[in-house]
Amino acid sequence: MDDFRPVEPDRIRALVAELSASPLVLTPILSAAELGRLSADFHDYSPVLEPLLKGRCAQLAVKVERLEQVIAVAGACARHRVPLTLRGAGTGNYGQCVPLAGGLVLDLSGLNRLRSVDPDSGIVEAEPGCTLAHLDSQLAAHGRALRLVPSTYRSSSLGGFIAGGSGGLGSLRWGFLRDPGHLLGLEVVTLEAEPRLLRLDAAASAPLNHAYGTNGIITALRLASTEAVAWQQLVVGFSSWEAALEASRQLPTTALLLNALCLLESPVAERMPWPAGCPAAGPGEHRLLLHAAPDSLELLPGWLAARGGQLRWQGSRPEAGRGRGLPLGELTWNHTTLHWRAQAPDWTYLQLLLPRPEAPLLEAVRQRWGSDVLWHLEAVRHQGAPRLTALPLVRWQGPQALADLVAQCRELGAVPFNPHVITVEDGGLGVVDADQVAAKAAYDPAGLMNPGKLRGWTG
Ligand SMILES: Cc1cc2nc3c(=O)[nH]c(=O)nc-3n(C[C@H](O)[C@H](O)[C@H](O)COP(=O)(O)OP(=O)(O)OC[C@H]3O[C@@H](n4cnc5c(N)ncnc54)[C@H](O)[C@@H]3O)c2cc1C
Repeated sequence: MDDFRPVEPDRIRALVAELSASPLVLTPILSAAELGRLSADFHDYSPVLEPLLKGRCAQLAVKVERLEQVIAVAGACARHRVPLTLRGAGTGNYGQCVPLAGGLVLDLSGLNRLRSVDPDSGIVEAEPGCTLAHLDSQLAAHGRALRLVPSTYRSSSLGGFIAGGSGGLGSLRWGFLRDPGHLLGLEVVTLEAEPRLLRLDAAASAPLNHAYGTNGIITALRLASTEAVAWQQLVVGFSSWEAALEASRQLPTTALLLNALCLLESPVAERMPWPAGCPAAGPGEHRLLLHAAPDSLELLPGWLAARGGQLRWQGSRPEAGRGRGLPLGELTWNHTTLHWRAQAPDWTYLQLLLPRPEAPLLEAVRQRWGSDVLWHLEAVRHQGAPRLTALPLVRWQGPQALADLVAQCRELGAVPFNPHVITVEDGGLGVVDADQVAAKAAYDPAGLMNPGKLRGWTG
């Protein structure tokens, strides 16, 4: 981390002068408060990342609304050799948009047009700054919807989700963002003295998918969409953890159409805020949270009751996230962590793909760590098969205890996705993706984009 130092003031001054003189109205932001805000994300869920990223801040920022402005900023950064960090809504959890080496933060939230929806295929082309909820509401007018969204659906951007996210609501049906078939193409601006504007097909786009903005500026995305469904939100209570776990394993194997399934162990359920009209979880009550299609509702309550689950509440999903009240989706994925940490800031979390069967691992962890690890599970589709992932809540007891817990889970067959690291590779399977590095060499040859976040780049 000591290798990353801010840029010498002379180069920043020269860049500010060039941008200020541009006829494209590129107003450099220099106020310390605004730069602090534009350099921050939600990495504070990690007590490992917090001290590591403290004080890392951009030296200037620019907000853009048009493609020509992006090209002008890219060219100027390349000519002045100033690092560039891209920013959508800044809701990432791994410090993805915290600039390690100062430089310029480019805020793309204003580049937010829906360019087209193909009426036959449903293929969408949109700019990266669209918030996902706004984009979804525009797709609804065409009878279409985004396949996958994070629980930060109402605030986060399309570009940031592709470059920094992985999955979320919809992962039960559609797997993860990097699965072939979701991202069909990209428009990209390169970071060169004379930037190129490229249109990449699905294969050429793959290395930019989940690359933390290290290997090209995405200025438009082509995505597959799905049919719009009026998902119903259901909250189901269980008194037995084993029964709740078994229902969570079986439900995704039925023909009942679901878009999300989240299971919260009772101590977690008891401390969640619930949508208006939904009773709070009683003592010892584990809760299953579902997004279910209207045609599944005839059968679902009986199916659940036969397995020990009682329907506690049902409500329509606020339309494209715009309606009043708390959407159930904002109790799932990392929103569970958010609500828990609001009451217990000394807790953190992990991310694991669980082995099948799951119960032996869950039980072994319980035996070793007691109530210092609490279970929060999410159902997903992994390589075509229904699986359960976990985002357990973990009482922070220092880095060694966290490493011991990760090691135990790995030994028991889980695949950890570590949220306490800053590189693309370490947050994934730990291996360098040569295609991501090759894309960086091609589109960011001077290595100026989000320095320090792609471990495979040694240039
Ligand atoms: C409470 C909470 C819940 C969350 N739940 C989920 C979840 O369910 N699933 C999930 O996957 N994530 C989740 N996240 C993480 C994050 O919210 C999402 O990944 C979100 O989609 C990121 O979008 P953003 O606009 O905030 O991206 P940012 O944080 O702004 O950026 C993310 C990364 O993308 C890069 N980037 C941004 N725009 C571009 C561009 N145009 N071209 C190239 N690179 C770019 C940035 O440099 C950065 O590295 C959650 C976070 C929080 C705090």
